Amino acid sequence: MKVIDHLRQADRTLFSFEILPPLKGKDVRSIYEGIDPLIEFNPSFINVTYHREEVLYKEMGNGLSQRVRVRKRPGTVGICATIKAKYEIDTVPHLICGGFSQEDTEDALIELNFLGIDNVLALRGDAIKNEPHFIPERDGHKHAVDLIRQISSLNRGKYLHDEELEAAATDLCIGAACYPEKHPEALNLNVDIAYLKQKVDAGAEYLVTQMFFDNAKYFSFVDQCREAGIMVPIIPGLKPITTLKHIAFLPKTFRVDLPDAFAQELMKCRSDLEVKRLGIEWCIGQAKELVARKAPSLHFYTMGRSEAVRAVAASVL
Ligand SMILES: Cc1cc2nc3c(=O)[nH]c(=O)nc-3n(C[C@H](O)[C@H](O)[C@H](O)COP(=O)(O)OP(=O)(O)OC[C@H]3O[C@@H](n4cnc5c(N)ncnc54)[C@H](O)[C@@H]3O)c2cc1C
Repeated sequence: MKVIDHLRQADRTLFSFEILPPLKGKDVRSIYEGIDPLIEFNPSFINVTYHREEVLYKEMGNGLSQRVRVRKRPGTVGICATIKAKYEIDTVPHLICGGFSQEDTEDALIELNFLGIDNVLALRGDAIKNEPHFIPERDGHKHAVDLIRQISSLNRGKYLHDEELEAAATDLCIGAACYPEKHPEALNLNVDIAYLKQKVDAGAEYLVTQMFFDNAKYFSFVDQCREAGIMVPIIPGLKPITTLKHIAFLPKTFRVDLPDAFAQELMKCRSDLEVKRLGIEWCIGQAKELVARKAPSLHFYTMGRSEAVRAVAASVL
């Protein structure tokens, strides 16, 4: 079933979450261990991230190094198919522009269609480490909106290079990303929202936000989107902070602010345990307010750990 249909049919805030494929060489059972503790909260859909290759420099032993491309977390589509079959829960594979030609993208979409997967989250992806900015493939997409246009075309039965083909249309529900605190590269939030509108006009049926820790920013962002004519559901993304490392890593990596009341308390924490208690408590507060104000779904970034998400879900749902 499509995410948009889950959202339309719901009479309450839904529960959904995002997982990462396991590191290359790890067993798929590690995925089930992350999902099992969350099943009792009836997730409506599970997102699976896509990780493009990284460039590494391998020492050759003779003073020279070799440039190699390595994909550390392959298997997004396979994991989506296996979760759908095992748990009978809808899955949302993430699909990115980086590393894909338009032909590769079409192949990936055909595969999703044949597997009976009804959803896709269309993203640009980030620059490869060591590259100063995002560089598309020669025949690839530069922005998520271009990817969304290709998926929408396929949904109308328009395949690449086959004008005459009597083609079967796909029927994929398209989601896209948005940023209540603006995308780091955007000149300002208004400009970012104007581009976001293009993604919706191109066929994105709902949006999922970057994680945020200040609900006021989400509510104000939703208002600004509505004023700009973006009327699709905007699903809030939540992440309980659980380690001292998170405090340094999350704001820097995702360019998000921690509200002062939360930051002041976090700075007093001396152990992961203290951070975890506080992070879960803060996230429960966020989740309760979002439910009270009828957010479409609480979408959790598990980052491979479900314990804290379970604690929040148990208090709210
Ligand atoms: C919910 C969510 C899930 C994610 N999952 C993944 C994942 O699985 N794998 C992964 O690699 N990354 C993932 N990301 C990260 C994402 O790929 C990066 O944030 C990336 O930098 C931007 O992706 P986008 O789809 O928002 O890009 P875009 O919509 O293309 O926007 C990127 C930037 O370009 C600007 N822009 C947009 N359209 C245009 C245009 N037509 N002309 C000029 N400028 C434009 C925007 O304002 C923005 O600053 C995720 C992010 C979110 C919020």
